[in-house]
Amino acid sequence: MKKGSKLAAIVLAVAMAVSMGACSSAGTTAASSGASSAAASTTIDKIKADGYITMSTNAEFEPFEYKDGDKVTGIDVEIAQKVADKLGVQLKVNDIAFDTLITELNSGKSNFVAAGMSVTEDRQKNVDFSDTYFDASQAIIVTKDSPIKLPSDLNGKKVGVQQGTTGDTYCTNEDGKNDIKVSSVERYNKGVDAVADLMNGKIDAVVIDSFPATKFVEKNSDKLVKLNDALTVEKYAIAVKKGDKEMLDTINNVLSDMKSSGELDKIIEKYKAALGA
Ligand code: GLN
Repeated sequence: MKKGSKLAAIVLAVAMAVSMGACSSAGTTAASSGASSAAASTTIDKIKADGYITMSTNAEFEPFEYKDGDKVTGIDVEIAQKVADKLGVQLKVNDIAFDTLITELNSGKSNFVAAGMSVTEDRQKNVDFSDTYFDASQAIIVTKDSPIKLPSDLNGKKVGVQQGTTGDTYCTNEDGKNDIKVSSVERYNKGVDAVADLMNGKIDAVVIDSFPATKFVEKNSDKLVKLNDALTVEKYAIAVKKGDKEMLDTINNVLSDMKSSGELDKIIEKYKAALGA
């Protein structure tokens, strides 16, 4: 008995020391934000106290997110900036590999994922999705002289995809429910590397989202074409940590305002118009 209570006292003392340590380190870095952080009880309170909101993305997906010099820009960044503006805080962008986005979100390192991310049942097990903001599909890019003219021509072919994307899931066809059976799936962290291998003849086709596919083809229009037939029907949404209702409501309010004011359409049109510019 006595031994047990002594142990409890040690545990309590350690816990107090740890929490005091945490307080004092917050206090030394930023006294004012440290003080308000202590009072912050909700996600939004914390974001306001910190003065910034963090979005995770993979900036290899023009026109939704891509690097312009060392700045990350694109449709998703513009939506995220509106969310930051609504809260009166700065926007921070974490640029990481696509297949690590959900893990990073759930570890608490960011507040939301805006990455041309399609809503899927699998992902819904791990995150909550906002209202959707873009209709997408998986497109096929081939070289101009390719014998691949239709989706069914992908049967038995070597196809490049972006790792962890819906294009990867479709081509991998784990449950065998898609009609198309490719011979092998080459997975890349960046779509641009898949496109480079396609042009080098290392793979037969690239399967990637339609709007980014248009961008890749536009940049290599002497060598590449995008086929007209799409493989899937998808919708993009912003992902938040499961149960983060406040964050979700804030994002949905911003999306709804941007839709009804026509601003979202205007932004999308701007990036379409930039094609070929
Ligand atoms: N829309 C695709 C997906 O959600 C690809 C997104 C991306 O590559 N950024 O998997």
